[in-house]
Amino acid sequence: MNAEGRASAEDLASWIRHAADLVSADVDRLTRLDAAIGDGDHGHNLDRGFRAAVDALPADAPPGKVLVAAGLAILSKTGGASGPLYGTALRRAGKALGDAADVDAAALGAALRSALDAVQDLGKAAEGDKTMVDALAPAVAAYEAALADGSGLAACVRAAADAASGGAEATVPLQARKGRASYLGPRSVGHMDPGASSTALILRALADVTGEG
Ligand code: ADP
Ligand code: MG
Repeated sequence: MNAEGRASAEDLASWIRHAADLVSADVDRLTRLDAAIGDGDHGHNLDRGFRAAVDALPADAPPGKVLVAAGLAILSKTGGASGPLYGTALRRAGKALGDAADVDAAALGAALRSALDAVQDLGKAAEGDKTMVDALAPAVAAYEAALADGSGLAACVRAAADAASGGAEATVPLQARKGRASYLGPRSVGHMDPGASSTALILRALADVTGEG
């Protein structure tokens, strides 16, 4: 982050590296969540995907290209439903940033909105279906509300990360209507959605790297 509160390509690369570290530290927890209402591969899917994203981070590229490269790596290396969803989300976020040399609060908000649109275009899930949308949609809404209140990039991201955590917690009582967990019907109630939980983790990583420390 520079003095004007803009994020650089290096900040976004740090985000991907930190997200990879947080995912790797949380593989077992994410796997347990997915074992309860899915097939138990979510932690390993994401771990593989984010490691590939870190390996694919370009040197000397604008912020948008950093996210596009990370998204493409996740798309090609991550299995499960979540790989295409996260990969496309990051790619679309990167495309929204274009070739700008740095990212201000409004641009990052637009990129996050594009990521949510990408997830919903591809997966067709609405809020309340017990998916990653239940973390990402409130995160984007909280980001935009903070931006409208005049908050800077770091505060907007913190609001988004907090809302994502709240959204993930709020998936516990829901019945899944999309993805593998929906096969369980009412037995999906009482467990946190793994993808909503990992979305909260990834946005926490962004808050960590954009925060004032
Ligand atoms: P799989 O379900 O194929 O094993 P993962 O375990 O990696 O894939 O990811 C599961 C997560 O993917 C779910 O917890 C949910 O958050 C997310 N997910 C599944 N289907 C959808 C969808 N249609 N839209 C949004 N998110 C989805
Ligand atoms: Mg799974």
